Amino acid sequence: MRFEDLGLEPKILKALTEAGYESPTPIQEKAIPEALAGKDVLGIAQTGTGKTAGFTLPMIHRLSKGRSKARMPRSLVLCPTRELAAQVSESFEKYGKYHKLSMALLIGGVSFAEQDMKLTRGVDVLIATPGRLLDHFERGKLLLTGVEVMVVDEADRMLDMGFIPDIEKIFKLTPFTRQTLFFSATMPAEIQRITDQFLSAPARIEV
Ligand code: AMP
Repeated sequence: MRFEDLGLEPKILKALTEAGYESPTPIQEKAIPEALAGKDVLGIAQTGTGKTAGFTLPMIHRLSKGRSKARMPRSLVLCPTRELAAQVSESFEKYGKYHKLSMALLIGGVSFAEQDMKLTRGVDVLIATPGRLLDHFERGKLLLTGVEVMVVDEADRMLDMGFIPDIEKIFKLTPFTRQTLFFSATMPAEIQRITDQFLSAPARIEV
C-alpha cells in the first residue's frame, strides 16, 4: 500500500515525501481511510506505530477546507502531557507545511496571555492538556461548540494521571456531530466505558 492510495490530497503527499516516508504503517493504512470517510476511529496502538500521523494526516486533509472563527477552534487534540502535546504540534507542522492551518498549544508553563491572543485570532487546530484547556474554558476564553474533529491521544495514560473526569467534561462541551479519533495502548474497563459513551459506531483498529 502507498500513501497515494489512501485518498490524501497532493500537498500532504508532497510533505510526506519530503519527510522521507515511503509507505504507511499498518495503523495509518487502516485508520486514514476510515477517518477520511468521516467515521469515528478507536485505535488500539502503542507509541512508535505511527499513530500520530494516523490522526494528523486526515485532520489536515479535512481542515484544509473552511475557516476558523475567533475563540472557536475547529479541531481539538487532547494529550496527557506537555511533551506529547509539543510532539503532536511538530507533526502538524511537518505534515501540514503546505497548508495554512493556524494552531495553538494550550499547555502549562506558557503564559495565558500569549495563548489567549492565538485563540482570539481563531485556530484550526488546538492541541491541549485537559487541565489547561478547562482553565481557559472556565475563564470564558474559549468555546468548543465549533469543534468538527476531536482526538484523544494516549487515553490510558490520561486514566493513570486522573484526567478521565476532565475528558468527560470536555467531550460534553463539544457538539454531538463532531468526529472523534480515540487512541489508547490498552483498553481497561474505564476507557471502554468512555468510548461506549462518546464514540459513534467507531471503526476499531488494533495493531
Ligand atoms: P508515533 O507512533 O506516531 O509516535 O510515530 C513514531 C515515529 O515514526 C515518528 O518519529 C514518526 O516520524 C515516524 N513515522 C510515522 N509514520 C511513518 C511512516 N509512514 N514512515 C516512516 N516513518 C514514520
